[in-house]
Amino acid sequence: MTEKSEFESDLYRTALAQLDRVAGRLSLDPDVHERLRYPRRALVVSVPIQMDSGKTEVFIGYRVHHNTVLGPGKGGLRYDLEVSLGEVTALAMLMSWKCALMGLPYGGAKGGVRCNPRALSLREREHLTRRYTAEIILLIGPDLDIPAPDLGTDEQTMAWMMDTYSMTQGKTVPGVVTGKPLIVGGSAGRREATGRGIVYALYQAARHFGVSLRGQKVIVQGFGNVGSVAARLLAGEGCLITGVSDIKGGVFNPQGLDIRQLEAHVAESRGVGGFPGAEPVTNVEILEQPCDILIPAAVGSQIRADNADRIKATIVAEAANGPTTPEADVILRERGVAVIPDILANAGGVVVSYFEWVQGLQYYFWRESEITARLQEVMTRAFNRVWALANKEGTDLRTAALMEGIRRVAEGYRVRGLYP
Ligand code: NAD
Repeated sequence: MTEKSEFESDLYRTALAQLDRVAGRLSLDPDVHERLRYPRRALVVSVPIQMDSGKTEVFIGYRVHHNTVLGPGKGGLRYDLEVSLGEVTALAMLMSWKCALMGLPYGGAKGGVRCNPRALSLREREHLTRRYTAEIILLIGPDLDIPAPDLGTDEQTMAWMMDTYSMTQGKTVPGVVTGKPLIVGGSAGRREATGRGIVYALYQAARHFGVSLRGQKVIVQGFGNVGSVAARLLAGEGCLITGVSDIKGGVFNPQGLDIRQLEAHVAESRGVGGFPGAEPVTNVEILEQPCDILIPAAVGSQIRADNADRIKATIVAEAANGPTTPEADVILRERGVAVIPDILANAGGVVVSYFEWVQGLQYYFWRESEITARLQEVMTRAFNRVWALANKEGTDLRTAALMEGIRRVAEGYRVRGLYP
């Protein structure tokens, strides 16, 4: 690749460095390796919206397909002020490795609109979503690319996307997105899937380390879809949730927080701040509080070279995408902290998205107990495969997970060959 890149961003540099390192370990064919370093296609769109004030504002949106060699693109849609072409491209690349690692018939994709979703009214969010969907419509479809919720987007966002796409087709097309509300073809258990997948990954980690989850002290940074579900389910497993945070800051109590009461507090006051009986902490401080398991479930680059040596946890389960920088990764490894990498730990969401897509294509829906049993089976199998590979190769879990994911995508490129 030339020195100057269209995809310039910290996360893209990290994703490329990971790919290059693992390509060396796998002795990847240099021609396939070169192809894997670029997205297949990337679309940049402007999204003009009439704001509630009557003024028109233009937002910038992206949809990127990293590869579609194993199937249609799959990846979330993010509304965040940090969204850039480079970030979305890096996240699409991570989706490629994640889908392949989990054995799903998908390529890697991602989308985003640079905006502050909390500053938009419901009407503005709906218009933004519908216009963005119309602008990227050439790239999406049940057999082309299937978006899902991510940071700053939710079930409602997916319902608007599905409706907009369906209107252009003259028929209802549930398979164009996943993470939809149940009433319009969503799957039982999808909302909880990523958080539940984290718990299944932690079951296996605890089993391999010969400890029980019961009594483990857990801190969760980010109390959104993923973080709040992980916290609630782990509390149900007998863990002590000692700290949680959201974008405004966190709360900490070494004796444990009552998660049910905390959820009621969040529903009322729209944030964890001010929860009675807990001391306030910043998002920087919360990562450094004493605990056994740390779950970063907010945004990227939270564990860095400047704080990695103050992390007290013995296990870091990466719910967010890219929460640990490569420098911090080295520090954690040297300190003996086990990091369950994002492409494994948070894969529960895309696994149940796959179940939702299959159910939608067949118009045949499964019970929640079937969904969770199959999710547990897929997470357990993937975790144990990664664990065994890490032991065999003498590597950490991230390297092993990347090796497995990248090897499968590369094999797809090899057998399909290079068109024309
Ligand atoms: P969400 O928008 O529901 O919740 C995000 C949470 O993080 C909120 O509590 C928010 O206040 C907090 N937050 C946002 N910016 C922050 C910042 N700068 N510092 C600290 N906290 C901040 O999003 P989500 O769906 O729960 O996703 C969380 C993470 O998990 C993201 O990194 C996302 O890419 C990843 N992820 C999500 C899914 C999914 O199924 N939703 C799947 C895989 C990975």
